[in-house]
Amino acid sequence: MGYQLGHRLAALEPYAPISGTYAIRLDANESFATPPAYLQEKILRAVGKLSLNRYPDALASEVSTTYANFYGMSPDFVTAGNGSDELISLLTSCFLEPDDTVVTLSQDFSMYAFYGSLYGLNVAVCPKEDDGTIDVDALIAFCKAQNAKALLFSNPCNPTSLGLVRDEVRKLLDALSCLVILDEAYMDFWDQSMLGELQNYDNCVILKTCSKAIGLAGIRLGFAVANPTITKALRAAKSPYNTDAIAQAIGTAVLTEPSYLNGQFVLLRQQTAALYDLNAPLLTQYPTILTAMAKPCTNFVYLRTPRAAEIHKALLARSIAVRMFAGALRITAGSAAENAAVSAALREILADFSR
Ligand SMILES: *Cc1c(COP(=O)(O)O)cnc(C)c1O
Repeated sequence: MGYQLGHRLAALEPYAPISGTYAIRLDANESFATPPAYLQEKILRAVGKLSLNRYPDALASEVSTTYANFYGMSPDFVTAGNGSDELISLLTSCFLEPDDTVVTLSQDFSMYAFYGSLYGLNVAVCPKEDDGTIDVDALIAFCKAQNAKALLFSNPCNPTSLGLVRDEVRKLLDALSCLVILDEAYMDFWDQSMLGELQNYDNCVILKTCSKAIGLAGIRLGFAVANPTITKALRAAKSPYNTDAIAQAIGTAVLTEPSYLNGQFVLLRQQTAALYDLNAPLLTQYPTILTAMAKPCTNFVYLRTPRAAEIHKALLARSIAVRMFAGALRITAGSAAENAAVSAALREILADFSR
């Protein structure tokens, strides 16, 4: 009787980021900065010129070329997506067959396993070391033992904020012949990108996003960078108008501002270092509550704590949202005032615990 959802959909819940209104939002790794007035005006002018009755450029050529220019690469390697999330979805759905194995790591970005299961892949999860680092030899052995058709991980990693240096990534790419998808969403905050070496590999895709360092999470614009063979397949498999005219126009307006962008990267790195420095004394003071915080390679810090749930709740009560994981909190770097506020709140909460 009646229509029944398939087993992969029946238990699925819509993605629900934190709900409610909070004075300080440090939970989604967005940039805290808004564009300066001249850039806001440039954005509005660009949007004002659009013919919204017409479909957008299907290949998003202008924004893709602008993106390629900014990173010094060929536009022939670039495919635009509706956020890199769409590109993760496309890669896992079209480049693998149901029952193929995709290897992900734990801990890593939750969307990889989400899309893998949604598309009926066998998701094999390779554990990281206890300190969150990746043992590349173990990962290579794991991929081979699993007969992986793809390996997908973030570098630097969300949520651990740790990075894998280029030499280690090269070792991985040299050893594996399956598709290797490097999600470099946070690489604008670190200096170990593989973008410049893609032409050496026929099996590597790098994912990039405008949602973090570029400061445009609201427009949904991401890019897949890969050799022309993979790029052609991606462009052919995507839905025709996957990036809308507004995202293309705003993306172009912002990506043609290299000195603004490089300034943003520096600013966000500084704010992340400042957040780390504000919290570091708390780890010394409360070593059994805050057990570790690695030097960040991203725009957030990852604070290990057995009392994550209690601290998370106490921060929300002070109208500060951070992201909670099992045994850890991820805190996005904010403005100087936001960093000071979250750190002061942590200090109060930890003092309360110790009373
Ligand atoms: C934020 C994030 C993305 C970006 O997703 P968009 O869809 O481009 O906003 C991709 N990968 C990782 C690891 C992220 O943290």
